[in-house]
Amino acid sequence: MTTVRSLLSQTQLPKTEARMLLAHLFEVHLQLPKSALLSRDDMELSHPLVTEWASLESRRMQGEPIAYLIGTRSFHAIDLRVGPGVLIPRPETELLVEIGLSELQQRHCLGFAGTVGTLPRVLDLGTGSGAIALALAHAYPKARYIATDASPEALAIAKQNAVLLGLTDRISFALGDWYSALKLSDGSNTLFDLILSNPPYIVAGDPHLQQGDLRFEPASALTDHASGLSCLETIIKGAPAHLKPGGLIAVEHGFDQSDAVQAMLLSAGFEAITPHRDLAGHWRAASARKPR
Ligand code: GLN
Repeated sequence: MTTVRSLLSQTQLPKTEARMLLAHLFEVHLQLPKSALLSRDDMELSHPLVTEWASLESRRMQGEPIAYLIGTRSFHAIDLRVGPGVLIPRPETELLVEIGLSELQQRHCLGFAGTVGTLPRVLDLGTGSGAIALALAHAYPKARYIATDASPEALAIAKQNAVLLGLTDRISFALGDWYSALKLSDGSNTLFDLILSNPPYIVAGDPHLQQGDLRFEPASALTDHASGLSCLETIIKGAPAHLKPGGLIAVEHGFDQSDAVQAMLLSAGFEAITPHRDLAGHWRAASARKPR
């Protein structure tokens, strides 16, 4: 007889990973909550469920990311659908959501937002699964969001997430490279209060690209196939033309790119350039304001 207990005692996966995969199977096959793993750990598991487990277990042993195997990842205060076409949202990217949220709340206090017609406008460039824009749209409903991506596959997943989260009333999506995506969208003439982006910033040939989850994620979401700074540069150089006076830009970057990104912001004419640390203590983001 196969039970949760016997599967967990036999698997070579780390126990936390095995539990996540089993909890996913419980939800999908038995419509049981995760907690059922504990309370029913001696329940006999059906043959199809055990077969499905064996397949997930072996795919995980080959390195496939847990998030792709179970199809979701929690980010900030939301759960996002994810699949092989999008970057798996990272905890450090919640930093950009926090920077954006505090900006929107401050502007609200200063009276910029509040009534229809003057809702703040937020742009998320290279949204992937929609993580940044959707987490912010969830946390701060009184704004209008545009999220872009050059990958139709990623944008389809982001749109699906907007529907599942019930956020379609405040977000729209635009396909294309960085700011050129806006040309064909309803954001073509929009100046934004806030621009956020977590672009591909890993330098070409970085050994991390051959390790862990990154092996399975779209390369275009991870690396610019160059110095790691080229997409950041495009985004920063283009930002003044798309921001209102006094508007804020915040970008995520690599742990060793803080000085380079701050220099780019300075030469693009920004002020109040501020580096931000992630929870691991790395300089992970920079924000800056367009002069009034
Ligand atoms: N933060 C990701 C990583 O280092 C990279 C994502 C990106 O390039 N924006 O795994």
